[in-house]
Parts: sequence; C-alpha cells; structure tokens
Amino acid sequence: MKCIVCLDERMSHTPEHIVPAALGGSLTTDAFCARCNERIGREVDAPFSRDHWMVELGARYAIKDRYGRVPAPPRIAATVEGKPAVVTMGTPWTVETFPETRIEGDRFTFTVPADREEEIVAKKLARLSAQFGEVEVASRQVMPNDAPVVQFEEVWPIERWPRFAAKVTLGIASLLPGSWEWRASEQGQYIAETALQEFREPRDAEVGLRPLPLVLQGDDLFARLVPPPRHFISIDESGIFITIILFGRYLCGAALGDEAPGRGVAWLFDPLARTVQAAPYLDLLMRLVGEMDH
Ligand SMILES: [Zn+2]
Repeated sequence: MKCIVCLDERMSHTPEHIVPAALGGSLTTDAFCARCNERIGREVDAPFSRDHWMVELGARYAIKDRYGRVPAPPRIAATVEGKPAVVTMGTPWTVETFPETRIEGDRFTFTVPADREEEIVAKKLARLSAQFGEVEVASRQVMPNDAPVVQFEEVWPIERWPRFAAKVTLGIASLLPGSWEWRASEQGQYIAETALQEFREPRDAEVGLRPLPLVLQGDDLFARLVPPPRHFISIDESGIFITIILFGRYLCGAALGDEAPGRGVAWLFDPLARTVQAAPYLDLLMRLVGEMDH
C-alpha cells in the first residue's frame, strides 16, 4: 500500500489523526506509512498541539486528550513594563511579576504582588536569614496598582501553520476519490514536501499553487458560523482551496490546484463529543448558517 506522503510502498501503515487527537480530532486515515506518521506526529502535530494558543483553547473548553486529560492553562514568559513576568492564559488571564531585590548597605528592597505578600515575604526572609543572619521587615510600602502593560516575547508562531495545513490537506485528500491523481500533480507534490520539511518561502510568486502561509484569527466572524470549540474543514464547490477552521477561531488552508481530489465536501468536528460529521459542503454550510444567532 502506497503512502500518500512519501509514496513508499514497502512500509506498514498506522492510523493518522487528521486533526490531532489532542485537539479533539477523531477522523483518521490509513494512508500514512508508520514512518511518515511518526515523523509528522513528532515534528508537526506535537509542536502544533502544544502551542500555547492551542492549549489555551483546550483548557478553556475542557477538551480531553486521548488519555482523557484536560490541559492546564499555559503559562508563558512575558514582559510587564520592562520587567520579566509570567502570564497564565486561563479564564481570565493573570499576570505574575517576579519580585525584584535591590541591595543598599544592610537594606534589601523588594516588590511583591499584594495578593501573595505574606507568602513571598516569608520565603524571602527565610532565604536572606540563611545567607546573612537574622533579618526583619524594616518598612513596607503599598505601591499604586495601575493596569500593567504586558508585552509577549512570542506573539504569533505563524511558521507552524503551513506544515500543519499541508498535513491536514494530505489526510483529507486521502479520503477522497481523486487522491492519487491529485498527489501526482505538481501541487500535490509540493504539499507533501511542505508536510515533511521545515516551512520555506514559496520558490516563486505563482499564486494559487502554494500553501497559504496565512492564518486568520477571527473572534467573531468564524465563531458565528462555526461555534467554538468546533472545527470545520471544507473543500468548496470550485475545489481550488481546502479551508481549515480550528476551534471556530483560527482559519488556515492550502491551495489544491486544478487536480483537486474532491469538490463540495465538508467535515464538522465536535471535540467535546469526539465526533465528526461528513456532509456535502453546501448542505453543511446552510445548516451552520441556519443555526447562526439561535
Ligand atoms: Zn510515508
């Protein structure tokens, strides 16, 4: 059996989750050989699923992984007014700044968050006493608590998306009748190469024949049509593009080219129930439009 990614016919095949199981995906294909499945799992699915933007949504909607575990809200490094901090992406997000110690003569000055003052000061005193002998609190001042300005070191890890979109495209194509004709086309070959290697910029400006290195985040637009936390994958009637909407929030996709493996097909995923419905694109679209604003 030929692998749709590497075209090798000798390897055994293992089931591949088209949307990762960690994101509540339940649709699988057997068109990936064990070697490609392992490599794509390690290099594409795992980093993508563990990305804090994905984990945040998994935690918010209590999406269980394949072992039944719900992820904890991610904690990421940030900068608050020029000082290092940790942001917990829960509901709501919280910001934790590190206490800063200044030493002048025999005085230590440090700043701690008000809601954890007692705990942190006790720890500080214990550590300083062990180092310098007996120390005590000489004075205490409450600082004004203006809303802090938070800056993230990493705002948008966009480079993970094209490889992910390419892998999803191969998985979806493998379920459709024209998959091998499409895989043999120039665009099918390009998508397979993209799934297997680090993303690189398109070699030329040929519009429409490359994965879209584009991710759109739509708080309202996609969420109105595909209520979170559902996922939606579709190939429209023209067959030019595959569109992938994750958690009703992020949109990415890939160009399929003229040899599209299928037209007018769509899948709606419910990550909480771990179910997926396949339907004609227009039927599913009309159903979602009918459910809007109800
Ligand atoms: Zn393979």
